[in-house]
Amino acid sequence: MPASNTSLRWCNVCNVPLLSEKCDTCKGSGFSLKVRKPADLRPVFEEERKLILETLDKQYEKGAGRKILYDNHLIFANKIFYIDQAYEIISDGKIIGHFFFDVYDYNWSFKPMEHGSFRIFKNLNLGVFMENSKVGDEFKINESNFSLKMKYLPIYNKYGVFGVAQILNERRVKIIKTFLPISREEETKPSSLKDVLDANLEYVRKKESKAVAFIHKISSRIKKPVCVSYSGGKDSLTTLILVLKAGLKPKVSFTNTGIELPETIENVNKVAKKFGLELLISNANESFWKGLDVFGLPSRDYRWCCKIVKLIPTARLYKKEFPEGSLTFVGQRALESRSRARTGSVWKNYWIPKSISASPINDWDMLTVWIYLLYEDAFNLVNKAYFYGFDRIGCYLCPSCSIGDYLYLKNIHPNIWRKFEERLMEKFLSEESPFIKYHLWRWKKVPNKIKSITGDVSRNYKAYTVKRSEETTEIIVNKKIDKETLEEFFKILEDFEKPDILLKHENKIILNLKNKDEKSIISVILRAAYCQECRSCEIWCPSEAISFNQEGRIHIDETKCKKCKVCTEKCPIVEFLL
Ligand code: SF4
Ligand code: SF4
Ligand code: SF4
Ligand SMILES: [Zn+2]
Repeated sequence: MPASNTSLRWCNVCNVPLLSEKCDTCKGSGFSLKVRKPADLRPVFEEERKLILETLDKQYEKGAGRKILYDNHLIFANKIFYIDQAYEIISDGKIIGHFFFDVYDYNWSFKPMEHGSFRIFKNLNLGVFMENSKVGDEFKINESNFSLKMKYLPIYNKYGVFGVAQILNERRVKIIKTFLPISREEETKPSSLKDVLDANLEYVRKKESKAVAFIHKISSRIKKPVCVSYSGGKDSLTTLILVLKAGLKPKVSFTNTGIELPETIENVNKVAKKFGLELLISNANESFWKGLDVFGLPSRDYRWCCKIVKLIPTARLYKKEFPEGSLTFVGQRALESRSRARTGSVWKNYWIPKSISASPINDWDMLTVWIYLLYEDAFNLVNKAYFYGFDRIGCYLCPSCSIGDYLYLKNIHPNIWRKFEERLMEKFLSEESPFIKYHLWRWKKVPNKIKSITGDVSRNYKAYTVKRSEETTEIIVNKKIDKETLEEFFKILEDFEKPDILLKHENKIILNLKNKDEKSIISVILRAAYCQECRSCEIWCPSEAISFNQEGRIHIDETKCKKCKVCTEKCPIVEFLL
């Protein structure tokens, strides 16, 4: 699929991106620059800049990085589609190249684009002369100052640099991109994020007043206690500041999934304290780690943890703190994902049915968020992890992360990484296993593109087996079942014998399932065997028939139970293991 582009405005006088048609500093209207969609630019901070420069130095020569991305000239990253982490790198109003984690090479890589190629040619004196050529052409080269580690070279002719070639081996290259020849580059001046803010001041003020007006409007319409769902990320910080600007005094809720970066925990406490707000924390404690034993590793197509460590603890907290519902402001932006774009600015969260969620920054882009935080002088309240190179803040072991993200984590928090790696090693034995090296655990069904690198791989986990004979059905689970717990769960089934006579071995149940609803019965057995004490069933039971004692043991009140089986439908064990 060809990558689709969109335009971005840039002021050539002030050397900053423009968020509207006009620069507030020089009053110019700038020029339009084609960038990849969705054009959600963010500034590159110091640690990441270092990594990009080091990558260029390794690829070309010592000092190459600073000859391609100039000191004190801002760098912006625009996420692009690739099998791992990849960004379009923009500086001086020009597309310099693509910075990405090269899965084939298992290393960071920089692929120069139009102006990166020109700068390599002009400042490093590297390039291949070609009268004319087109994408896909392969040819032999004689130059001796090239090495394989350069990976990409500019192609030039008498009109200038007009393409990029990938080095295939010592003597062969292939053209991967062509463009109109570039023979010179206008000089640009250094600029800072403060310059970006000044050039976009009016725009930022307008965005702020529109967001504050939105908060006023919705809070006057929905008369419920106000809360801000705070994740420790920049978007929720921006949202919190806007809610405070609107004159509201919200409570702040935070779901500690148990796999949060230490910087996030520190940030949540710091921000709540700074604004003197009540902090409501729902804690998933060790649920993620315990869940690994039952559900196996989470993956992009098997997100059991979202239920266990996020949604259910959050639902429990809201049920307790806001029994009649709340108006919850969330820092959600449409540009983040298609599903977020679909939600709109106001929505109902399925898991918190009495509450209304609203995002005052739904139509903001990432750059607006960053410069708004600068405008508010709130950089000291930003989660430090962003400045270490993390692109997103959230569960650090999320299967949505890229290999690049895990490498950041390994580098910055080796102890945290080790704990997870030990669990991976228990399953996959060697660091060289593709499940660890390429983090294939992130998929149940590994995408073909990845398989082309790692070879065919598969992962199966079955939480139970069923053996059928004429008279009986045997259900065998991988865990010892506690008889009393089994009896509790069987209370929700109609017309069934007591399970104590059916439990033949610690993990084997033999039943006569003739004319019985097999699926409901297996669901109940799985719940009894693998219950995670998440209490989703307690939240959803319409008859309040479920309770848990101090030890976390479930009790079902038969006098209240209507046998509706809602508790089974809402149980993550059934959802993910049946
Ligand atoms: S790790 Fe990812 S999938 Fe799991 S709870 Fe966190 S965000 Fe959801
Ligand atoms: S039985 Fe209830 S507490 Fe146990 S995992 Fe299922 S929903 Fe959670
Ligand atoms: S959800 Fe329905 S079946 Fe489950 S305990 Fe409550 S009333 Fe009984
Ligand atoms: Zn300007």
